[in-house]
Amino acid sequence: MTDLARATALLTIDVAAIVANWKRLSALVAPAEASAVVKADCYGLGMEHIAPALSAAGCQSFFVACVNEGIALRRILPAAVIHVLSGPLGGDEGEFAAHNLIPVLNSLAQITGWAGFAKKGSGAPAAAIHIDTGMNRLGLSETELERLAAKPEITAAIRPILVMSHLACADDADSPMNARQLTTLRRLASHLPALPQSIAASSGIFLGRGFHLGLVRPGAALYGLNPMPGRPNPMSQVVKLQGKIVQVRDVDSPQTVGYGATHRVEGKRKLAVVAVGYADGWFRSLSNRGHGMIGGMKVPVAGRISMDLTTFDVTDVPAEHAHPGAWIELIGPDLSPDRVADEAGTIGYEILTSLGRRHHRRWTGTETAKS
Ligand SMILES: *Cc1c(COP(=O)(O)O)cnc(C)c1O
Repeated sequence: MTDLARATALLTIDVAAIVANWKRLSALVAPAEASAVVKADCYGLGMEHIAPALSAAGCQSFFVACVNEGIALRRILPAAVIHVLSGPLGGDEGEFAAHNLIPVLNSLAQITGWAGFAKKGSGAPAAAIHIDTGMNRLGLSETELERLAAKPEITAAIRPILVMSHLACADDADSPMNARQLTTLRRLASHLPALPQSIAASSGIFLGRGFHLGLVRPGAALYGLNPMPGRPNPMSQVVKLQGKIVQVRDVDSPQTVGYGATHRVEGKRKLAVVAVGYADGWFRSLSNRGHGMIGGMKVPVAGRISMDLTTFDVTDVPAEHAHPGAWIELIGPDLSPDRVADEAGTIGYEILTSLGRRHHRRWTGTETAKS
């Protein structure tokens, strides 16, 4: 019996759709460069399968969150430009040099530390400078930048190739914060030598050309999440999650379903028990709220989601579709990760990065991606 035949949950990742999404963004922002954010294992979807396809499609620059992710990506892509968003955290500078990883330097302390390392002549790679423009997460403050501007020899020592910042409200095109942050970046960057600049992640790209600058850093949009919540999603869907029905039960008297007896069945109903639960990243907050799709019909979650199982009310679904061994779609064309996130009370990013390790995973379209 094959792994696939044994699987009770099936996660299909359309790599060709990810590549198509990157190409669409790349064309949209040209002549600005489109990089790819591949942190958290490509938002949970498998960097090992996705990064080579993006590289083959022409993507040259990548962003990861931490040095270990950078080392893993370097093994996959020997020649790519790899930025590490957290930068060196003390003692790990040699790893950046050994694996040719570009540190994103987020504070004056990180910059002086890296300059000291670079001056030792240990073959330090170039660096990116992150300026905070209102997010108050990572990045140099205006005061730090002024202090840096007074010491041009430090800036020279780190060989900066990019100045970047990050938008706090890019998914809200009406937020005055967007233009304010862009203006602040331009003003603060004038303290530094003229360098390519970057402020837009997925949503920022759709705020207009003024936000593209030299380079954009999309993550979520590559993986099919809607960069413009509330408007039609311009990106192709990437993820499909299916769960296998392990039992179908008929209930014909008033009863309750699942832990806590939170769902009441009054009359004659048919319930399908599916082998996907919160341990698989199917959020417990979808209890009595989420949906599945089977035989072209949308069916509601009945009762609480447990660790390994979810019960759906499939009363209206013909038996030819709702039977033990049949698949029910939990994420897919009619149930986008954004949609599931809405029902779960979170965002699509958390749905993708929470997808469990118990699914049988398959990656499609890796061949077309290469041609
Ligand atoms: C995660 C991240 C991105 C990508 O953001 P998306 O919204 O997923 O496109 C870009 N830049 C930085 C600094 C990030 O942390």
